[in-house]
Amino acid sequence: MRFPRGILYVVLVVAALASGCASEASAPPATRTPDYTRPPLPAKAVPVLTDSPVPPSPDTPECGDPTRSLRPTGSGAAARGPVIDAIRARGRLLVGLDTGSNLFSYRDPLSGSVVGFDADIAREIARDLLGSPDLLEFRSLGSAEREGALENHTVDLVAKTMTITCERRQLATFSTSYLQANQRVLAMKNSGIGGVGDLAGKRVCIVPGTTSLDHMRRLQPAATILTVPTWADCLVVLQQRQVDAVSTDDALLAGLAAQDPYTELVGPSISAEPYGIGIPKGHDDLVRFVNGTLDRIRNDGTWARLYQQYLTALGPVPAPPAPSYQD
Ligand code: GLU
Repeated sequence: MRFPRGILYVVLVVAALASGCASEASAPPATRTPDYTRPPLPAKAVPVLTDSPVPPSPDTPECGDPTRSLRPTGSGAAARGPVIDAIRARGRLLVGLDTGSNLFSYRDPLSGSVVGFDADIAREIARDLLGSPDLLEFRSLGSAEREGALENHTVDLVAKTMTITCERRQLATFSTSYLQANQRVLAMKNSGIGGVGDLAGKRVCIVPGTTSLDHMRRLQPAATILTVPTWADCLVVLQQRQVDAVSTDDALLAGLAAQDPYTELVGPSISAEPYGIGIPKGHDDLVRFVNGTLDRIRNDGTWARLYQQYLTALGPVPAPPAPSYQD
């Protein structure tokens, strides 16, 4: 192929830049070894400012039992309502989740689709609402982006290990609880860390915008908290020894521990974390519909099958959380 002179010059400059810098291009073949002393991504865990006031419990303001939701009116094709009609007219359910959360929502390397306990529960909702578990679109959300996505209606629902709290219920509505998680601690095996009481003066990795961060700041104010964008990043900084421990829900920690046999969950539960599907405020017909799907999967064996498929690292399949209703 022949290039006009100007274009050839640009191609050569770009090629030289792509291979490093111009002087390196003429150097003898590189014998440099990679610099393993520098951690790969995430470059640095960021300390939480400890002079900011310790947040109150996420369950203030009080709302009674935050897991009480709206009674289902049925989840089949006959169910109608303004929000579910609009989703049917669009033909796809928009679901916010984390696409890198082992066990809950991650890309299956064989099929290329996003699977996991949260992703597959979203598929069951699409199955009831649109007649097919595949009529959904996933939008990747960080932990701190969940409430905003619901307030701005950029998704129909959030299925991302989201704890139902009174504080969050001021911004969004929730389905009934579909999983009971518990906040615990992940540390390296034989680290001497046996629970939250041992974290005084230690560095703990937590993702911002989570109940996990608030609980740790209240329960162990003597820990140095470092934050990174995702829980998967917390595993990396633990492996790099930038931190001594990670603390969040046992369900998420089990997903990290499954990727590193040198880590282990330690200590008892420091907080109960009931997961719910987050739904924008005012979308009550969708809340009732989702609660209908959750009722169906609790009763027809789907919930137990999904738990068996993804969550047995947490122990044998328990009974699903019983729904509790406000009306
Ligand atoms: N369950 C906790 C929360 O909702 C942590 C889960 C997460 O970051 O995805 O804040």
